[in-house]
Amino acid sequence: MTTLDPHLQDIYDVVLRRNPGEGEFHQAVLEVFESLAPVVRKHPEFAESKVLERVCEPERQVIFRVPWVNDAGDIEINRGFRVEFSSVLGPYKGGLRFHPSVNLGIIKFLGFEQIFKNALTGMPIGGGKGGSDFDPKGRSDREVMAFCQSFMTELYRHIGEYTDVPAGDIGVGGREIGYLFGQYKRITNRYESGVLTGKGLGWGGSLVRKEATGYGTVFFADEMLKSRGESFDGKRVVVSGSGNVAIYAVEKAEQLGARVIACSDSGGYIVDEDGIDLELLKDLKETQRARISSYVDARPSATYVAAGSIWDVECDIALPCATQNELDEDAAITLVKHGVQVVAEGANMPSTPAATRVFSDAAVLFAPGKAANAGGVATSALEMQQNASRDSWTHEYTEERLAGIMRGIHERCAAAADEYGAPGNYVIGANTSSFVQLADAVLALGVI
Ligand code: GLU
Repeated sequence: MTTLDPHLQDIYDVVLRRNPGEGEFHQAVLEVFESLAPVVRKHPEFAESKVLERVCEPERQVIFRVPWVNDAGDIEINRGFRVEFSSVLGPYKGGLRFHPSVNLGIIKFLGFEQIFKNALTGMPIGGGKGGSDFDPKGRSDREVMAFCQSFMTELYRHIGEYTDVPAGDIGVGGREIGYLFGQYKRITNRYESGVLTGKGLGWGGSLVRKEATGYGTVFFADEMLKSRGESFDGKRVVVSGSGNVAIYAVEKAEQLGARVIACSDSGGYIVDEDGIDLELLKDLKETQRARISSYVDARPSATYVAAGSIWDVECDIALPCATQNELDEDAAITLVKHGVQVVAEGANMPSTPAATRVFSDAAVLFAPGKAANAGGVATSALEMQQNASRDSWTHEYTEERLAGIMRGIHERCAAAADEYGAPGNYVIGANTSSFVQLADAVLALGVI
């Protein structure tokens, strides 16, 4: 661990005291603070106005009961969260996660990441995050609908197209957004398309939103490769996960000429040396909601590994697209030993701090999630633009906008890394560039 500048350490100590037991939130704050020493030296006004202290304290945190009735007729109780972290750049914006691991600390870490990620897009969106410890896995459609309706029956009073605009995340896809939107519409009697993003194409959704996070991660990695005169063509790629982010990272990497040879779910991973069969993967995961292990039933040449780490598979480019802290120090050492050139995070904070240090010491091109996976939320902002103008854009135009946004984020990160004396370091570039943008807005808006 690097030693923090004393001013930053004092503020970090307060964060630790105020938010006991929230390990992931502490980790996310420390990761940003480790980049900020040159920023606070250059901008004494940030310390004078307590900008860091303000940025680390969410504007509002809502925790609520979600009671609903399961198929057996029993009442179940879950806990719902919405952390509205910062609205200085625009309405709170960020996904909802439905997963048994969800607690306040996880939502705060995700909300904190979101404010910097959203700033990096250069679009007018603040940051927030929400979710529940509800597990949609193994639940019937009716149960998922009953849960979503109850969740929205409380959430609706906190959101709105100018206030807070949720979207999906782990466990929340088009089906859940549909049930949530239906309940919002019913309670408020308003067809307020811009209140949620990730909607279906027939009712206010945007083309390319589903693909955007995965595509954006590959676009960002492609920009990094180009900076070294390289490309995806002919590269061996490993993508962890097999959800929405992973599937479309596989698709775009394959379109750019790469061979994606492995992906995973929480049960294990598959290796297919001929390249992942994307149609099969989509059918299993999007249509059948099956386990990744069933991939080998249809493709006997592939192998399924139930125990062990997907990062043991040799590759040139690693795209962690599953979940936080999935790639630890040992995995990073293995990847470096195998000659990995690029690591771009499609998930939020998938690399542990120790893994990130291994990549940086080995001069691997490393893109943190807040830069590399910003394509999802950026395309949500494009969906909001289409909703506001009651328009819908073509696939080509929307994808071109996404590609341009990812190029912009890459440029901003590279320029800030140069400015703060760490050329090629995308972690420092992403943290400094987004922090300065946020801090300038906090100063401009007064003591709020
Ligand atoms: N959950 C996604 C993220 O982590 C998307 C958020 C959104 O579209 O608002 O950025």
